[in-house]
Amino acid sequence: MAVLTLTHQQKELLDRSVAAGEAADVHALVMLALAEHDSGIRPRTIPGDPGSIRRWRDDIAFTPSTERVVRWEHRLEPGTGRAVIVRAGQILRVAQVEGNQCADLNVFSLADYREAMHVGRTRTLHGIHPVAGDFLWSAPPRERAMMFILNDTAGLNDTLFPRCSANMYESMFGFADHTNCADMQAEAQREFGLTPDDVHDSFNLFMGTTVNDDGSCSVVHQQTSADDYVELLALMDVLAVPNTCGNDIFRTSNYALRPLDLTVMDAADDDLAAVPELRAYPTQRTPADFAQPHIRTERSLERDPDYVPHFSRTPIVTHEVSVELDAGAQALLDRHARRDLYGDDSDAALRDLVLGWWVDSHA
Ligand SMILES: [Zn+2]
Repeated sequence: MAVLTLTHQQKELLDRSVAAGEAADVHALVMLALAEHDSGIRPRTIPGDPGSIRRWRDDIAFTPSTERVVRWEHRLEPGTGRAVIVRAGQILRVAQVEGNQCADLNVFSLADYREAMHVGRTRTLHGIHPVAGDFLWSAPPRERAMMFILNDTAGLNDTLFPRCSANMYESMFGFADHTNCADMQAEAQREFGLTPDDVHDSFNLFMGTTVNDDGSCSVVHQQTSADDYVELLALMDVLAVPNTCGNDIFRTSNYALRPLDLTVMDAADDDLAAVPELRAYPTQRTPADFAQPHIRTERSLERDPDYVPHFSRTPIVTHEVSVELDAGAQALLDRHARRDLYGDDSDAALRDLVLGWWVDSHA
């Protein structure tokens, strides 16, 4: 007899599988998990509510046609950035002029600047080098796709490195003042009333990076040509802020500061058709869902004497589910149990196998 000690959330997951008909009961589901650890894990769809379709195309303010329509063009000179409104359904193209120039990018919701691109979320979903077909996501608790990487001729985007800053160049090299992405972002965003503190982690276009064996990260040379560009399609009205990286000390832009060309276009039908269907979930929260929806204006922090904590689904409740293991199931458990982690605790090893199986088998 084994006993699975499950939090109510873990039990909910297994119960949902049973309700979806994956197994007759939790016991049978455990047997299935053990068997598939041995024979190969079969992919399944997540049982339960998949969310609704996000009707982002309803927010497009123009009537798309078979042709793109160019609305705005700008040459981003070396050492500068620009805050540009990109409406839902429009494309921002960031194009090389001479080649080998890195660009940093910030993205804010035009309707609420507190919804901003989150490089961490983007990295988690698409890896450290997002390419065409990937999305740029906003931070929790919003977590919406803000832009879609429609085309990318270089495939050289980075989510590892933060923006370079004035202090980086001073502390490393003694520059009293040096072109840097943080200050360029701040100066460009100032046109819309944002402060230097509002500059967030950048999505880095045309930036070659790698993770070394010891876990450290390095910037490598880039080989982009004058023909290379990245096209980002807006899935909501956004303020996009690209700047030409100010780094002429590292390999980032191959030791030069060069211009980039910006273009905003109304997308054509084919562009819009290339965006995969998006889902909408109640957990993509807006200020209407916040327990504290008011943005502070005073800068120092003071404790709210009336504060009473309210953490969802607490206190944590656990359930003990007894599972009868026959000789075959016991043999499977013995074969796959992580004794290095759990020692003689077979119940914990079984829970690891069952939940690990659940996550691996449900795409
Ligand atoms: Zn930079």
